[in-house]
Amino acid sequence: MRLQSYLTLSVVLSCTCPLMPASLVHLHTNNCSSIFAHPPMLIQTQINPTLKIPSFSRKPIQTHTLKDICLRGNLKEAFQSLPVSSNDHPDETYAPVLELCAQKKALSQGLQIHAHMIKSCSVSESVFLATKVVFMYGKCGSVRNAEKVFDQIGQRSIFTWNAMIGAYVSNGKPFEVLQTYKEMRVLGVPLDAYSFPSLLKASGLLKNLYLGAEIHGLAVKFGYDSTVCVVNSLVAMYAKCDDLFGARRLFGRIDQKDDVVSWNSIISAYSSNGRSMEALELFREMQKAGLDSNTYTAVACLQACGDYSFRKLGKEIHAAVLKSAQLLDAYVAGALVAMYVRCCKMSEAVRTFNKLEEKDKVAWNSVLTGFIQNGMCSEALHFFHDFQNAGEKPDQVTVISILVACGRMGYLLNGMELHAYAIKIGFDLDLQVGNTLIDMYAKCSCVNYMGYAFNRMPDKDLISWTTVIAGYAQNSYALKAFELFREVQLIDIDVDPMMIGSILLACSELACVSQVKEIHGYIMRRGLSDVVLQNMIVDVYGECGNIDYAVQTFESIQFKDVVSWTSMISAYVHNGLANEALELFHILNKTNIHPDSIALKSALSAASSLSALKYGKEIHGFIIRHNFSEGSIASSLVDMYSRCGMVENAHTIFKSIQSKDLVLWTSMINAYGMHGHGKVAIDLFNKMKENLTPDHVAFLSVLYACSHSGLTAEGRQFFEIMKYEYQLEPWPEHYACLVDLLGRANCLEEAFEFVKSMQMAPTAEIWCALLQACQVHSNQELGEIAVQKLLELGSTNPGHYVLVSNVFSAKGRCKDAEKIRSRMKERGLKKSPGCSWIEVGNGIHTFMARDKCHPECHHITKKLDQITEKLEKEGGYIAQTKFVLHNVEENEKVKMLYGHSERLAIAYGLLKTAEQTPIRVTKNLRVCGDCHTFCKLVSKLFGRELLKVMMDYESEHVNGEGGNGPKGSNGKKVPCDENPLHHATTCTRNG
Ligand SMILES: [Zn+2]
Repeated sequence: MRLQSYLTLSVVLSCTCPLMPASLVHLHTNNCSSIFAHPPMLIQTQINPTLKIPSFSRKPIQTHTLKDICLRGNLKEAFQSLPVSSNDHPDETYAPVLELCAQKKALSQGLQIHAHMIKSCSVSESVFLATKVVFMYGKCGSVRNAEKVFDQIGQRSIFTWNAMIGAYVSNGKPFEVLQTYKEMRVLGVPLDAYSFPSLLKASGLLKNLYLGAEIHGLAVKFGYDSTVCVVNSLVAMYAKCDDLFGARRLFGRIDQKDDVVSWNSIISAYSSNGRSMEALELFREMQKAGLDSNTYTAVACLQACGDYSFRKLGKEIHAAVLKSAQLLDAYVAGALVAMYVRCCKMSEAVRTFNKLEEKDKVAWNSVLTGFIQNGMCSEALHFFHDFQNAGEKPDQVTVISILVACGRMGYLLNGMELHAYAIKIGFDLDLQVGNTLIDMYAKCSCVNYMGYAFNRMPDKDLISWTTVIAGYAQNSYALKAFELFREVQLIDIDVDPMMIGSILLACSELACVSQVKEIHGYIMRRGLSDVVLQNMIVDVYGECGNIDYAVQTFESIQFKDVVSWTSMISAYVHNGLANEALELFHILNKTNIHPDSIALKSALSAASSLSALKYGKEIHGFIIRHNFSEGSIASSLVDMYSRCGMVENAHTIFKSIQSKDLVLWTSMINAYGMHGHGKVAIDLFNKMKENLTPDHVAFLSVLYACSHSGLTAEGRQFFEIMKYEYQLEPWPEHYACLVDLLGRANCLEEAFEFVKSMQMAPTAEIWCALLQACQVHSNQELGEIAVQKLLELGSTNPGHYVLVSNVFSAKGRCKDAEKIRSRMKERGLKKSPGCSWIEVGNGIHTFMARDKCHPECHHITKKLDQITEKLEKEGGYIAQTKFVLHNVEENEKVKMLYGHSERLAIAYGLLKTAEQTPIRVTKNLRVCGDCHTFCKLVSKLFGRELLKVMMDYESEHVNGEGGNGPKGSNGKKVPCDENPLHHATTCTRNG
């Protein structure tokens, strides 16, 4: 029992005070080789060497003084009192000074003492002193010197071995510990209680549970398995090797749990394995057992409080620490700061930091990285100024933190300054600094410097490659991204999903299906496929227009998440398959997955493109019911309502939003523009200008509004303002819009001059706008030029060919028209057929010209015949066959007109909806003049408000005589079903 208690005592000391083993080494070298060789009583009398020393020395005063000086911790004084020669009692002279050097980690003084000893030939004689030297070097971090001395010792004691493995383990060299341990086993050196903690720590560092278990076995064999320091080390070893069960079982086997170190071991075992709950429960148990916690307990518990839910307990521990200690221990303070950082309590972290007496770089950096981790980049930069003002020099960690902040804030100049500093100090060659530099430049869109930083790195890892490839992909350098990806494959780096994600981004930039397929195959072969990548593949196939592959990939995803669904819905929307998108959205609502705001935006966009008001309203209802903040979806709602012809509803949404961003303003301006309220749109634009800076898209929407309301002078003015006041270089879309504006006002010469004055080469859309205007205003000469230019550009838009062909057939040049059509076919281009649709009941009913596919086709045709008859008799309607451009017989032309898709939709509407209710018909192309007359008469004779919405987002109410016909009357109306989509005036905003 007494032996047990002795061991407990010494071992506690050894574990809590890192310097104690040395004093014990001293004790044992002097007295015995093994504590078990002596009866307990004897040991008990030997444990207190300080008591023996006064009577031990022949020069009591001098030795006593040196020892005392050393105990007081004054190294300088100790040096001064060192005798010139100490041949008499070298052990007594040097041992305390060596220990003091070790304690102070004073390597240079340690070296001097060692030299002094060599001069007086003390080392070679005394194994005890040599062991002390090994210990000193180990503590001072000079493993090589420790090894040198160790190798020269002929007769090593167990304490020498322990000092050496202690040196290795405290300097993070577990492999060397393992080597030495093997040597010890081969030489048959008997292990003692002090060997085990180092060996077990090394096993833990190596995460080598087999080795740990072997050493555990030895501890049992030699009877040390209930020695407290060994048990504590065992607990820590099992925890480090992720065997918490083993650790807990060992802890449970300790009979008397009255040692705080044991508790600390098990608590930190749990907290460092992320098992906060168990760690904190154990802490409670420890408090119940009446044990006082120390700084190590506090640190272990604070580590467990990292979770936000334990922040209250963290504060309690903080309070307890403040109450118990006069001065905040740097170690605890670091843990407190880290705890507050993890709990997102940066103000507390800073307060704790400010109370620190000595702020070391670790403390500065932990607050700095805390700001970054909590997304507080500008605070991080402010803190960095304080850091510099305090005279601190940035290290790698500091540089990395600030580079991250610069990248996120887009502060290129600050980032470059730091880069210059890093180059000066040589940090930029560091792997992590280099990777962060690449990321910073990528985020600041500074691609050249990004490449430079990448090329300068001597060693690149997977992260370097992934970051640089992502950087190129995100900054629209898709080909460069591909080039580097090929290089990665050549140098045989294991590609990870992150890199594939970047390459897929590049694929969508290039919109090249074959590249996507290649990457898709690569993913399958390497087994890299996860749900994130699969979602991306759906996205990219959708963006490349390969909807079948997108569907296949979507269906192959085993566990679809909300992103999978959103990707597929967006893919449908992107490919003009709005019906399919809405259908999928409905299926999604039947699953357990809740759509997020992106899914809702996609669904709204599908509803808009179908001008499916009912669906749109349903989604709006969903948004309100599920408490989505309308702010982020507001612009989508405004778009939806305005495209469904409900500009007042759009305005209600717009008004209800408190803080309106540029996107929302633009949507509303666009809404007024497409409904012909040009003046209102302009007022809105001017109001927006007071608080926000308009961008390209905002200008496009106001130009579009001017063009659609015939506000020529205003349109010209806005173009000038954009160019000269806001320094925005116009896009081709802006030019096309202005050409359209001038064309509508019959300012064709001005429009042509304007096109000629362009800095860039005019695009097909611009010539198309001019040609349309020429056709409306019968300007043959300019029209011919526009036709030539349009054909020269070899456009891939079928609409352009259709337009040219129509121009030819209108002039009776049927052969030329035919030539253009066959040219279009040769290129594999198909014009999108004209179609109209109407929302009735729960469905959307789509009709093509002379469509016979509808299940109620028979009724519809009959109804249409009745309507036409009524119009002819009561409204004097006569079919205007000039709107048919096909070279066919007259009666065939009439039949063609009668079968136009919007008439089928209107007939269906009259058949299926209640009297007096408005009818809303949507068409993907412009309505021809004859159909316009037809609509007006239907509205008048059937007493229905007729709302036509066109895909190029012109909509008009036809109410009796009140409606306006399409622009350019006098028999020069744009032919029905044949007019290309007027994409130039469609405002879209990326992202
Ligand atoms: Zn028509």
